[in-house]
Amino acid sequence: MDCIFCKISVGEIPVELVHDGENVAAFNDLAPQAPTHILIVPKAHHANVGDLAIASPAVVGEMFQVAAALAAARGLDGYRTVFNTGESAGQSVFHAHLHL
Ligand code: 5GP
Ligand code: ZN
Repeated sequence: MDCIFCKISVGEIPVELVHDGENVAAFNDLAPQAPTHILIVPKAHHANVGDLAIASPAVVGEMFQVAAALAAARGLDGYRTVFNTGESAGQSVFHAHLHL
């Protein structure tokens, strides 16, 4: 499967990972919409967060733990997290990802 976020999360495409865990990776968005705009992804391929939640609910929780840790490490006093699901809702990469 030709999935850009699979390749990034396993290191096949070299980008700086700001988090690199067993199940979850995170990296800066290519086109940031805010001073901090990080994408947090499962290392396993799931097309969207609904599929991920069914297959691996603990990984969804882990993604939010990573978001909180990254925000704290950057000294943010608040942050927003977004999952877009489906093309009509703005999803353009069909590997589940949490925007921070
Ligand atoms: P979506 O629209 O699917 O919710 O979000 C996809 C996000 O992935 C967009 O914010 C876009 O800028 C980002 N993106 C797309 N391709 C790449 C890439 O190759 N590298 C990185 N770092 N971000 C990407
Ligand atoms: Zn993938």
